[in-house]
Amino acid sequence: MSWEVVIGLEVHVQVNTKTKAFCGCSTAFGAEPNTQTCPVCLGMPGQLPVLNAEAVQKTILTGLAINATINLESRFDRKNYFYPDLPKGYQISQFAVPLVEKGYLDIPVGDGEKRIGITRIHMEEDAGKSMHEGLEGVSHIDLNRSGVPLMEIVSEPDMRSADEAIAYLKQLHQLIRFLDVSDGDMEKGQFRCDANVSVRRPGEPFGTRAELKNLNSFRFIKQAIEYEANRQIELIEDGGEVVQETRLFDSAKGESRSMRSKEEAHDYRYFPEPDLPPLRVSAEEVAAIRAGMPELPGQLRQRFEQEYGLSAYDADVLTQTRELATWYEQLVAAHPKDPKRCANWMANELLGRLNEAGRDIADSPVNAQALAGLLDRIEDGTISGKIAKDVLDAMMASGDSADAVIEAKGLKQVSDTGAIDALIREVMAANPQQVEQYRNGRDKLFGFFVGQVMKATRGQANPAVVNQRLKILLQD
Ligand code: ADP
Ligand code: MG
Ligand code: ZN
Repeated sequence: MSWEVVIGLEVHVQVNTKTKAFCGCSTAFGAEPNTQTCPVCLGMPGQLPVLNAEAVQKTILTGLAINATINLESRFDRKNYFYPDLPKGYQISQFAVPLVEKGYLDIPVGDGEKRIGITRIHMEEDAGKSMHEGLEGVSHIDLNRSGVPLMEIVSEPDMRSADEAIAYLKQLHQLIRFLDVSDGDMEKGQFRCDANVSVRRPGEPFGTRAELKNLNSFRFIKQAIEYEANRQIELIEDGGEVVQETRLFDSAKGESRSMRSKEEAHDYRYFPEPDLPPLRVSAEEVAAIRAGMPELPGQLRQRFEQEYGLSAYDADVLTQTRELATWYEQLVAAHPKDPKRCANWMANELLGRLNEAGRDIADSPVNAQALAGLLDRIEDGTISGKIAKDVLDAMMASGDSADAVIEAKGLKQVSDTGAIDALIREVMAANPQQVEQYRNGRDKLFGFFVGQVMKATRGQANPAVVNQRLKILLQD
C-alpha cells in the first residue's frame, strides 16, 4: 500500500510598512546594524507600544483577498521565550483571537485547481538578527529588524505533496506582491516558511508531524519536504515511530536534523498583552479596504486571455508580477494591432534574453516603446521575423532603436520584385537540373528554390514575395 504525505504550512510575511509595528523606527533593509532602533524596539522597561495602522490595514487586505473572515475585535498576546535577538523576552503576537480567520487559496494542480484552507492570519512582530559570519567566539546582534511587522499565515494540513506545497507558496507569494502588502524578497527574509510534514496510509487519521524550520527558497522547501516524507516512511516501515519534533534543514547536506522534541518544546506561556487594548476595526473600515482591492492575479490572467486573446500559458507568464503585466499593457498600447504578437515577443524573445542575462524586466535595456518599434517593422514588412531576432539582440546590446539597428546594418527586407526576379533567375541558371525536375512534377523542389534565394539575400528577401515570384518564374 502506498503512502500519503500531509503538509501544513506556516508562512511569515514581513509587511512593507515604512515604520515598525509598535514604534516609529524605519523598517528599511540593509542599514548599519542597530541604527534603526528606539527604546520600544530595544525592549526597554516602561516603554509603551503604539500599533501601526498601516500594518493592520495591509493584514486586513490580505485577509479579504483570501476570502477570510475579518474579526472586528482581535487581541494581542505575549509569546514568552528567551533568545538573544528578543530583547523584551517576549514577542507581541495574536494567539487567542487573530485578526483574520478561515480563508482559502485556490492553487493550480495538474489541469485543475485545488482549494487550500487558511486557518488564520495573525499580526506579530519580527525579532532581531544574530550575526555569526566572520566572527570567532562571539555573536553580534542587530536589532534593526526587531519590531518589523509580520503576518503569520497558517494553512490547514491540506497539501498532499511537495509540489502542492510549492504551488501554494508561489500563489501566496504572488498574491502578497500584487496586493503590495510585502516586497516578498525571500533572500532578505521577507517571506519565510515552516513546513509541517506527516505521512499516513490513505484514509487513515493524520500521522504525527515534524516541523521543518529554516526554509528560505522554493527549491529547499521542496527538497526538505521530500527528504522528510521519505525519512518518516522508512522509519515506519522499519517498525519505528515518528516523534513530534522540530527539525532544521541543512541545505548544503540536503538533510534535516532534530532541533528539539515535543518534550523540550517551548511553553510560551501566552498571556494577554496588557499594554495594548483589543484591536477594534469597524465594518466601514473593512468595506473601504475591500473597495480599494487591486486586480488580483487570477482576474488579470482571465482578462488577458479574454481581452487580448492570449493562450493560458502566455497569460500566466505575463501576469507573474504586476510589473510584467504593466509592461505588457504598455507594449500593446504602443503596438495595438497584434496583442498576440506582443505577447509572443515579450514572453519568448525578450524575457528569454533577459533571463539569460540574469536581468529583470525593470532593468531591461529595451523598453516597451522600443520593442513596439521593432514589432512595427515586422508588421509593415521592413524586416522578417527571423531578422527581427537579430535586431533585438543588437538592441539589447546597444540600447538603440530598431530603426537605427536596421539602418546601420542594412537589414531592410528586399520586397522589390525586380531585384527578387533577378536573383531567382540567377538561382535557376545555376541549377538547371532541378528546374527541369521541378517542371516534370517534383513539387518538393520548391522549398529548395526558396532556400537558395533566401540564402543569396542572407535572409533579407521578403519570403512572401519570393514564394509568389518563384511560382510564376518556375512555370515558364
Ligand atoms: P502549533 O501551534 O504547534 O504550531 P498548529 O495546530 O497551529 O500547531 O499547526 C501548525 C501547522 O501544522 C498548521 O499549518 C497545520 O496545518 C499543520 N498540521 C497540523 N497537523 C498536521 C499533521 N498531522 N501533518 C501535517 N501538518 C499538520
Ligand atoms: Mg507552529
Ligand atoms: Zn523602535
